Amino acid sequence: MFERQELYCHNCDVHVQFDLDLSIDGNHVLECPNCGHEHCRVVKGGIITDERWDQRNGPTVQIPTISIT
Ligand SMILES: [Zn+2]
Repeated sequence: MFERQELYCHNCDVHVQFDLDLSIDGNHVLECPNCGHEHCRVVKGGIITDERWDQRNGPTVQIPTISIT
């Protein structure tokens, strides 16, 4: 099951939409397709939290972008 979610890119001032698998947890990289900025966010139950992580010392997953607005 997937749920569409939105992340604001403060770097280039766009909203980016992603489809997240609701069964995933952990550290994920959400890359802005507009400026390439990588948002390192903790995902819990498929929900993008406001929690950030800095060190790439664990498994990370790139999430494909659906669209930007
Ligand atoms: Zn951006």
